[in-house]
Amino acid sequence: MQKKTRQKQAVQSVFAAAAGPLGPQEIAAAARESVPGLGIATVYRCIKELMEVGWLVSVLTPVGTRFESAGKEHHHHFFCSECTRTFDIGGCVGGFDQFVPAGFLAEGHELTISGKCESCARRADAGLMVT
Ligand SMILES: [Zn+2]
Ligand SMILES: [Zn+2]
Repeated sequence: MQKKTRQKQAVQSVFAAAAGPLGPQEIAAAARESVPGLGIATVYRCIKELMEVGWLVSVLTPVGTRFESAGKEHHHHFFCSECTRTFDIGGCVGGFDQFVPAGFLAEGHELTISGKCESCARRADAGLMVT
């Protein structure tokens, strides 16, 4: 298999196991498990190519752009302000049409809940017990 193909497949497989949108550094770290020494420039190139063919979409987070595979079911995100990881969360309350001004046409929405992920929340709890 061509080196380039192998690199791209490694990047793609990272998204299959991802708990949420990933940043380039996270992608590189995970992909290095199957392609040791994979450079960040290569990861950026793979992201660009996968965006161009519509395999990846970008997700804006408070700490920059992350990426997730396209065509996922409607979902939202949880942003951990402690470790800055972003997680997928399922379900949608819907009913956002009521907030749309008269005459406007809504075509979609994005929703990100921020706070602390499970492991960061647990760490914060433990910290409180010590003090
Ligand atoms: Zn966290
Ligand atoms: Zn929704």
